[in-house]
Amino acid sequence: MAKIFCIANQKGGVGKTTTTVNLAAGLAKVGQRVLMIDLDPQGNATMGSGVDKRKLELTVYDVLLESASVKEAAVFSEKCGYHVLGANRELAGAEVELVDVERRERRLKFALAEVDADYDFVLIDCPPSLSMLTLNGLCAAHGVIVPMQCEYFALEGLTDLVNTIKQVHANLNKDLLIIGLLRVMFDPRITLQQQVSDQLKAHFSDKVFDTVIPRNVRLAEAPSYGLPGVVFDPAAKGSQAFVDFAKEMVERIRKM
Ligand code: ADP
Ligand code: MG
Repeated sequence: MAKIFCIANQKGGVGKTTTTVNLAAGLAKVGQRVLMIDLDPQGNATMGSGVDKRKLELTVYDVLLESASVKEAAVFSEKCGYHVLGANRELAGAEVELVDVERRERRLKFALAEVDADYDFVLIDCPPSLSMLTLNGLCAAHGVIVPMQCEYFALEGLTDLVNTIKQVHANLNKDLLIIGLLRVMFDPRITLQQQVSDQLKAHFSDKVFDTVIPRNVRLAEAPSYGLPGVVFDPAAKGSQAFVDFAKEMVERIRKM
């Protein structure tokens, strides 16, 4: 049975897409069967997985509108070792088109039932908003992974997300829980980051992942080559951290 995780945070530029593609590549590397779903119309996770969003005939948009199945629309990225259910600008229209349809927030959940036996992990890269697209992700998921930078306003932003997750949990998806907070772009030399990291640990204890993702320029360079850092430069510190994180996730789901 596939375990399904949303990578979500309503802030933009916090490392959601970087986390999604590198965790997917890290999991593939340790032998897991992975489907990566891009729910952001920007299509960065698609491009960053070696799949050209402009050349896709079917995307997650078709799946949400029920004109294609996940099996039909997903493509395998040879370079990355995982399947990609891609997105492009067309997905922005789904928000409006879903307004009047039945069980609009459960479309992805139903579509994923078909591939439940085909994957160990399904990772969903969410857009930086609490939109109908994100809601579809949250309804389909068993858990949420929240990447965050250890900055002053990080905790404040977290409150909105935690409230949304609570609402989804109460009304739409009883299975949903926050799996954990992932500290990303971490620079231990910056005292404030160390302090915020300590605060996170104090408030959320075991909800904070052990693995810390360092700020690492190779992770930022990789997308311009259409690859996750883990594939582009496996020896880089950031890539190694993501493989460690993949192993930590494998351990976590054993206990779920
Ligand atoms: P989001 O999906 O939340 O908008 P991204 O994953 O696109 O965020 O990351 C925002 C920017 O930060 C990108 O340019 C990305 O390459 C860069 N970035 C992400 N994580 C790291 C890291 N650990 N070290 C250095 N740069 C990073
Ligand atoms: Mg993104």
